[in-house]
Formats: sequence, structure tokens, C-alpha cells
Amino acid sequence: MILCQAVSIRRSFLTSVKSLERTISTQKSLSLAASNKYDEKPKGQYDIIIAGGGMVGCTLACALGKNSVLQHLKILLLESSPNKKYELTKEYSNRVVALNQNTKTLMNSLDIWEHVEKMRLQPVRNMQVWDACSDALISFSSSEMLEDDVAYIVENDLLLHAVNTELSSPSVKNVNIVYGAKIAGYELTKQTSSGSKVKLENGDTYLCDLLIGADGANSSVRKAMGVQYVSWNYDQMGVVATLYLAEETENTTAWQRWLPKGPIALLPLDSQRSSLVWSTSNEHAKELLRLPEDQFVDSVNDALWKQYPRSRTVDASMSWLGSCLKSVGLPDGAVRQLPPSVRSVAPASRAAFPLGFGHSTRYIAPGVALVGDAAHRVHPLAGQGVNLGFGDVKDLTELLSDAVYSGLDINHHSWLEKYESIRQRHNVPTQLAVDALHRLYTVDSPPVVLIRSLGLQLTNALQPVKKLIMSQATT
Ligand SMILES: Cc1cc2nc3c(=O)[nH]c(=O)nc-3n(C[C@H](O)[C@H](O)[C@H](O)COP(=O)(O)OP(=O)(O)OC[C@H]3O[C@@H](n4cnc5c(N)ncnc54)[C@H](O)[C@@H]3O)c2cc1C
Repeated sequence: MILCQAVSIRRSFLTSVKSLERTISTQKSLSLAASNKYDEKPKGQYDIIIAGGGMVGCTLACALGKNSVLQHLKILLLESSPNKKYELTKEYSNRVVALNQNTKTLMNSLDIWEHVEKMRLQPVRNMQVWDACSDALISFSSSEMLEDDVAYIVENDLLLHAVNTELSSPSVKNVNIVYGAKIAGYELTKQTSSGSKVKLENGDTYLCDLLIGADGANSSVRKAMGVQYVSWNYDQMGVVATLYLAEETENTTAWQRWLPKGPIALLPLDSQRSSLVWSTSNEHAKELLRLPEDQFVDSVNDALWKQYPRSRTVDASMSWLGSCLKSVGLPDGAVRQLPPSVRSVAPASRAAFPLGFGHSTRYIAPGVALVGDAAHRVHPLAGQGVNLGFGDVKDLTELLSDAVYSGLDINHHSWLEKYESIRQRHNVPTQLAVDALHRLYTVDSPPVVLIRSLGLQLTNALQPVKKLIMSQATT
């Protein structure tokens, strides 16, 4: 009881100090506005400005707004797109994401998950990944591996709507959102004490103590920071579409087949439909978009079922490994589920997106932090991209809350450094692992096929290794 009172007194003391500081800082920025650097009158002064209201930026705004320690802060979210009205239609959107358990936990803690559940999501209870150039296969099942589902397939716009529903609920009082706010430029501070300036295309300007770049892979915040960005294109596109399956099933399995040009994945949507993510060469992707619908469906079925040229050495080695595994009572990979066949494609659901890798060597600068694709971009083959961004949201919110609770400024550099260090230690190895998988599987020379097939088959046989992979993929 005494401890609770002490915590509450400490909180109200810090809140009063903070509001006094904000008054001083508002006066400081108004006087800055009168100086040369800030020559236009700012439209507003905020503690935090989030640039970009995609899935990551909106979730961050919600997480900061709902955090009890940060509730006295003024937060502004700027998004260039207009505020579109969302309507749940019978047709699924062609843009979906596979969300992991950690993302579900975050969304649950922010009361967003219940909005998603009220609309729709599809749990993934099994996953089968196999190589078109050999018999190698790995499968994951929620019953054998985890206490919960392997993942959840959710449409991007539905998730964004769920986040925005919570963001506009009475439980979030300190977040302002401006839609149609295309940011034209930034003046970033060199020291944390003076704050940054955000300038919109319409001439409006805003000042803030902490600027957070959630503005996607082409982030202008990152460019304004002048940090090194390591990036490359995969010369591949991800072809997406909504597919109708030939037979109605429970449909809770995610399928991924590694083809020489890139993986094709079917993510379950409901008993009749799955979402396609087919990573392939740019030319092939364009050709797939041009094909008449029936020929496109034939190409998808071929990609799932067609027998590709095999090396005899690879086949012989795989059957030798299979018999060794069987002799010691381990799964030999002979038992496999057959993938579904596709009946048709939902009209006008085909689209293609360029795929690339991106790593910002710094996630922070004085008074600035990056989250989501603005900081890191990965190939979608492992369904990690936005999950990494949601991990950024969770860690950044916790660290900012710790900083403020300790009586420090919201933009305190050593706390931002902690954020960068924690996230890079998680994100960079994941990004490199995903990139390595891409490289390993876009080669069809027999020695490489042999090594990867033996590796995949062994991994499938060793439960502890599989569990380790799953736990890495969900954190
Ligand atoms: C084919 C494909 C499949 C994928 N599948 C998965 C998956 O299964 N699982 C997974 O985890 N990830 C997946 N991803 C990755 C995932 O889509 C991205 O990681 C995610 O969209 C990044 O979200 P974000 O909010 O960081 O960035 P974005 O979605 O790019 O949002 C950035 C926002 O900033 C706004 N903005 C940009 N510039 C400005 C400006 N100047 N002023 C104001 N606003 C601005 C934009 O309008 C946008 O709303 C996939 C990606 C692709 C291409």
C-alpha cells in the first residue's frame, strides 16, 4: 500500500515536472520560431511526432498513447494518405501478413486483437515447406511444437483498421492524427535539447522533442538523418493474389515450395480461399500478371505440383539419410501432406511488389528514432517484415516509458541507444538469416541442392532444432 502510494506520488511529481518542462520547452520553441532557424510559426509543438501511419506507425501511436507513464505526453501522427473509410467486404484483400505469437501478444495487450477477431483472421496450425529440386521437407505443427497456433493470417488493411479503431477509442486521449499530411522535409536537431522541425507539403510546420520515422522502406526521416543504409534489390517481385481452392477443407496449413526462381507460398484465408505470395524474377512476375486468369491458375498449380529436374546424387543421398533417420526412430520425411490445387483466382486480385533488403546502420540520431521498414526491410519468404516492426514498437515503448519513469527526457540519448542496440541485436541476425535462405534456395546446382536438402531433412528430424527455429521466428 505504502509502496503504491509512493509510486503514485513519484508519478504525479514527475508529471508535474514534465508539464513544467513542456511549458518551458513550448516557450523555447516559440522563441525558436521567432529565430532564423524556425522562421514560420509552427502549427503545433509536440513531445513526439510519428512520421508515417502504416501498420507500424499506427501501432506505435496506440502503444505510446495507452502507456500509463506516457499519458501526459502530446503525440502527433502524420500520414500522407487520406483517412479512408474501411468496410469489411466478402472479398479478401490481396495484401495479407502472417503474424507471429509475439505480435498477437502485443496486439492483445493494446486491445487491438479483439477488433481483428471480431472481423476475421485465419490461424495457421501447420506449415509445410519443401524443395522442388529434391525430396527435402520441413513441417511445423502447433500440436507438436507449440502451445498455440503457428501464425495468423490477417489482411493488412483490416489490421490497420483494427489499430485505428483502438487509436480513436476513449482509452487513447493524447494522440492527434493528421491524414493527408505529406511531409516535405525535416530539420533535425544536432542536440537533443533543441527538438526537430517537420514541414508538410502544404506549408504547415510542427516541432517536436522526439521524431519517430515510421515512413517505410523509402524513409525520408532516415535520409534526413544522413545515416548509412545498406540495401540491395533481389531483382524479384512478390506476386500476390486471392486464390479459390479446388476443394473445401479446414484450410489451416501454410504451404511454401522452393522453386529455382523463388518460393511460392499459399497462406490460408478460409475454408475455400488462400492468399498467394509468389516471389519470382521480375520478368516472370510481369508475365504472370499479364496471363489470362485460367492460364495464371495453371501456372500456380504447376508451381505447386510440377516435377523439376532432379540430380541422381541428391536423390540417392537423401534416401540414404532417410534410411539412417528411420533406423534410429527419427522422422525420415517420407510422410508428407499433399498441397491443395487451385480452382480459380479472384478477379482483379493479382498484383506484384518489388522485393529488397535494407538495413539502416543507425536506428537513432539525437532526438530521432526509426521503426519498422524505415529501419529494416526483409524478403517476405519467412513472413518476418512487419513482425520485426512490431517488435520495435514493443521495445521502444517500454524504453521510453522507463526513461520517463526515471525522470529523464523522452529523447534521452542513452535510452535511445539502448533501443537501437536491443533491436539491432534481434533484427540484424534475422535479416541475415532470411537473406541467406534466399541465396541458398535460388541456386539449383546439385552440390548446393545436396547440402541444403540434407540440412533441411536433418532439421526436420531434430525436434529441439525445430523448436529453436520456431522460437526465433516468434520473438
Ligand atoms: C509481398 C509481401 C508480403 C509480405 N508478407 C509479410 C508477412 O507475411 N509477414 C510480415 O511480417 N511482413 C510481411 N511483409 C512485409 C510488410 O508488409 C512490411 O514489413 C510492412 O508493411 C511495413 O510496415 P511499415 O508501417 O513499417 O511501413 P509502410 O507499410 O511502408 O508504411 C509507411 C507509411 O508511411 C507513410 N509515409 C511515407 N512517407 C511519408 C511522408 N513523406 N509523409 C507522410 N507519410 C508518409 C506511408 O503513406 C505509409 O502509410 C510483406 C511484404 C511484401 C511486399
